[in-house]
Amino acid sequence: MLDPISNLETLKESLSKYDLKAKKALGQNFLLDTDFTDKIALASAPFDGCVIEIGPGPGGLTRSILLHGAKKVIAIEKDPRAISFLEELKDAAKPRLKIKQADALTQTVWTFGSKPRQIIANLPYNVATPLLILWLKHINAFDKLTLMFQKEVAERIVARPGYNNFGRLSVLTNWLTDSEILFEVPASAFTPRPKVTSAVIQFLPRKKPLYDCTMKHLEIVTQIAFNQRRKMLRASFKQFGGSEMLSSLGIDPQLRPQELSIQNFCKLANHLGNHIDEATV
Ligand code: SAM
Repeated sequence: MLDPISNLETLKESLSKYDLKAKKALGQNFLLDTDFTDKIALASAPFDGCVIEIGPGPGGLTRSILLHGAKKVIAIEKDPRAISFLEELKDAAKPRLKIKQADALTQTVWTFGSKPRQIIANLPYNVATPLLILWLKHINAFDKLTLMFQKEVAERIVARPGYNNFGRLSVLTNWLTDSEILFEVPASAFTPRPKVTSAVIQFLPRKKPLYDCTMKHLEIVTQIAFNQRRKMLRASFKQFGGSEMLSSLGIDPQLRPQELSIQNFCKLANHLGNHIDEATV
């Protein structure tokens, strides 16, 4: 029997009738090319548990996720116009799709549904990084995250030490997850067409972080180090003992932050933990 979702009119047809003009402030670039929405859905399968989709918009990606067999999808969307637009899809998918109107930044999505739980999203660019940091803090609640970012941001997230684009987000992400760019999505696949290329990353949470230390201390140490990314570590950590302190940990004080391994960032986080708790950074 044909899935009722396949009987819906195409998104392009629906969009031409309803007023869902993309709003820049909401990072709205809709992915209407089903080759790509299907590719993201296939990369996220199997759908054993609950899927949380952030920013379904008109629901192109949502359709693909449902058509590929997701049994439970909880979609969080900020734009009330999109909520009305999604009514038809919700009916056709009954009872598999729940839609909540909310700002994803305020939502404890790590408590939604039950495990196994995964997030799939073509993220609004303006809040993509804060959302990722928020979810990393609760990474053990998820089995998988499949997320689309601007290509440059995606490359920074998966960057390894020694590369110029290695930064704070790369340290935190690599420490907690095994992540890779699956594929790029050209601007032409979106409506309206953005100025940049996008890329889809899949994050598989590690059973435990690569090295022991607290997220709080690692966040602060990476903040201190990367706030002045051109400076040597001995200068950035001057107030904590500079060269002497770094040498005592076996870290070359002349390194710049993008050259430091994740293991050494964790060493620094552990060593400076107590000072950091007292100091105002
Ligand atoms: N998933 C749709 C697609 O692939 O065509 C839309 C993706 S569009 C890049 C981002 C979506 O996130 C928009 O629908 C936008 O309204 C929504 N959005 C923006 N900020 C949001 C927020 N803070 N919380 C939830 N949704 C948000």
